[in-house]
Amino acid sequence: MVDLDPEQLDRYSRHVIMDDVGPEGQAALLDASVLVVGAGGLGSPVLQYLAAAGIGRLGIVDDDVVERSNLQRQVIHGDSDVGRPKVDSAREFVNELNPDVTVEPHETRLTNDNAEALIADYDLVVDASDNFGTRYLVNDVCTLAGTPVSHGAIYRFEGQVTTFSGEGPCYRCLFPEAPPEGTVPDCSTAGVLGVLPGTIGCFQATEVVKWFIEEGESLDGRLLVYDAGEMTVDEVPIVADPDCPVCGAEPTLASVSDAEYEGRCSLSD
Ligand SMILES: [Zn+2]
Repeated sequence: MVDLDPEQLDRYSRHVIMDDVGPEGQAALLDASVLVVGAGGLGSPVLQYLAAAGIGRLGIVDDDVVERSNLQRQVIHGDSDVGRPKVDSAREFVNELNPDVTVEPHETRLTNDNAEALIADYDLVVDASDNFGTRYLVNDVCTLAGTPVSHGAIYRFEGQVTTFSGEGPCYRCLFPEAPPEGTVPDCSTAGVLGVLPGTIGCFQATEVVKWFIEEGESLDGRLLVYDAGEMTVDEVPIVADPDCPVCGAEPTLASVSDAEYEGRCSLSD
């Protein structure tokens, strides 16, 4: 456990004076490591608040470059970053905000060849990706490894967020396979309200901070569904599927290396 130096006692003073966090909770945050998959709409607020909170080690996985059409919602990147790798501008943003945080940029796509090794190096994964293949891959690797995942997804005016503890239920208990290709368009075809990923990403960051300070009620077992148009938040229970191929009683998936993460990402024959 880290001892807080005078500068850290100052920087994190509003945490340190809270009974629920205190110097111990802040030290736990400084000791924590989080891998953020995606430095886009969801990843931006997640990285902002996790960096500000003093998560000691932040890994960032992304292989995209900043495009001008990203700037409507991806608030850690600036106009002068257009054309640069997102992991570079994300790293600069975090370094400028909080020198306590060690940033580890991984300029790559998460694949079934690299995901197990990458994820093994972190305490928790934030799924801030924008596609089903990555979601199922993150779920399968983390569930097999027992690594907790903060999950978020956005679509036009609607967002979903939950936390998977790594001990089930998992994303596949909720959605055994991805919807047929073409039925759920992505942000670039369907559009998204620019502030929506900010809201959902902040929910994710909240869950991550609570996880490490071990306070409050986790979203584990509950899917929060937020409608920005109606300004409503609903809750859907996530029930463990005893036949789940990843977290069920007799899992059929032993490793992601042979699984398929395209199309419907199905694990059934
Ligand atoms: Zn499951």
